[in-house]
Amino acid sequence: MIRFIALSGTTEVTENFYVYESENDLIVVDCGVGFPEPEMFGVDLVIPDFDYIRKNRSKLRGILITHGHEDHIGALPFLLSEIKAPVFSTKLVAGFIEEKLKDYDIKGVKVNVFDPERDNISLGVFKITPFRISHSVPDGVGFAIDTPEGKIFHVADYKFDWTPVDARPFDIAKMAILASSGALAVASDCLGSTTPGYTESEKGIEERIEKIILNKKGRIFFTTISSNISRIQQAVNVAARLGRKVAIVGRSIDSKVKISEDLGYINLPHGLMVDPRQAIKMPRDKVMFIISGSYGQPGSALYRVALGEHDFLKIEEGDVVIFSSDPAPPGSKTNVDFLVDKLIESEVEVHYYDIQEDLHVSGHASQEDIKLLLSVIKPKYAIPIGGTIRHMRAFSNLASGVGVKRENVFELKPGESVNFKNQTAQKGEKVEVRNVLVDGLGVGDVGQVVLRDRNLLAKEGIAIVLLQFDESEGRLVNKPEIISRGFVFDKGSRDLLEKSASKLENFLRKKKDLDRRLVKNLAADFLERHFYKETGRRPMVLPVVAEV
Ligand SMILES: [Zn+2]
Repeated sequence: MIRFIALSGTTEVTENFYVYESENDLIVVDCGVGFPEPEMFGVDLVIPDFDYIRKNRSKLRGILITHGHEDHIGALPFLLSEIKAPVFSTKLVAGFIEEKLKDYDIKGVKVNVFDPERDNISLGVFKITPFRISHSVPDGVGFAIDTPEGKIFHVADYKFDWTPVDARPFDIAKMAILASSGALAVASDCLGSTTPGYTESEKGIEERIEKIILNKKGRIFFTTISSNISRIQQAVNVAARLGRKVAIVGRSIDSKVKISEDLGYINLPHGLMVDPRQAIKMPRDKVMFIISGSYGQPGSALYRVALGEHDFLKIEEGDVVIFSSDPAPPGSKTNVDFLVDKLIESEVEVHYYDIQEDLHVSGHASQEDIKLLLSVIKPKYAIPIGGTIRHMRAFSNLASGVGVKRENVFELKPGESVNFKNQTAQKGEKVEVRNVLVDGLGVGDVGQVVLRDRNLLAKEGIAIVLLQFDESEGRLVNKPEIISRGFVFDKGSRDLLEKSASKLENFLRKKKDLDRRLVKNLAADFLERHFYKETGRRPMVLPVVAEV
């Protein structure tokens, strides 16, 4: 029997993490991060639950990576820091992964580079043949995975782009040949399944960027996500044609461009690139800055420029800012909107997704692309991945239109699985999974309780009550003292806090046989009710008992 488990990556768009498992062998495909929801205060990242891998670590043969987006590689350092396994990817993606592992100081992991034109990978009973796909970042692949039960295709994020920036299109011929001997199943990208038509090629974008920049007198600030090497290449091409030098600002873009150049994935014409500190001395219509911060991340280079806080880069009236990345992921839209408004206030010309949708084309297959993929592979079973519930459902509808029986499409929730046995598939057991939250250096130590507290603190503030208590006599020593943050403004409502403290004192003095714990609970309970009555608010009440 072969089991496919969507440990995460379904119902949510990010955090891709899938398992193929036989009796004795297990392989992982992709290991990505998710992004925190706005109410996850202080959480930096969300990563998949590795518990199932922990329990089956002796079976783990390797980790296959489809492409270099964060939601496919970002959680690797967290997995590899506790469970070592060989990683397999294309050359550019390996460059990105190695840099990431260095950042997290993870040693002793080998990233094996494969050539999708030529190489096969053997991991236990699984024989894997990669083939090139196209997406919004270069060097992505799909996998044809030969298993004892049949061939399963894993095609994560893709689109059919016959004119990609790197001139290496989807190798549909190879995929067709691999599928010609019969395909048991396909697990594939469903994010574009509600979008009609075919997804546009990346090619058209370059012309649009050029049109915007042509004849502009100011500096150009071009921003996209750092892994989008193709888009950066397009910006570089335009700059070269229009006689502008290019300077890169921001660590993440800088390091990804360096890796890509070293590995031959980006072509930077000789003499085009200049140091940003040199660029600011040049005429304003002779430079383009490629700058990080396309999601408006606080602290990013673009953020600091927009707020006038950058060490040496200033933005002025007549300059042009171009946002050329996916419409912002949930949670970051408000950040982007904030930056856009700031920039417009400074009389800067801003191009962003609302007014200029065509500055970005999706990296994901639309309805007709999905039909094409399924028509070429002709799988008996299909599993939509990388989309929300509505995308999975739309994918199911499409699939049944091109010959995959409706009951043969499995819409999986995180942890759900499909068992393949004797050429048939059935929904399998569910693995219990939870989201693991990363906050600073802590992995998994922020859970629901901490988040609930942070929510309360953010919404209602906190009141701390200091109680001096004589344990031997079982009584309060002084009048309690109350200080607050984010609840009521201290100076303005000193009165409220003073009066509340007096009332609490009276209340506690009437009680007999107090002990430390009791005094704490009584005080919290009294103040919670009292504050609600007086203000209609429910701050977190934190009693602190000092013994005298
Ligand atoms: Zn992707």
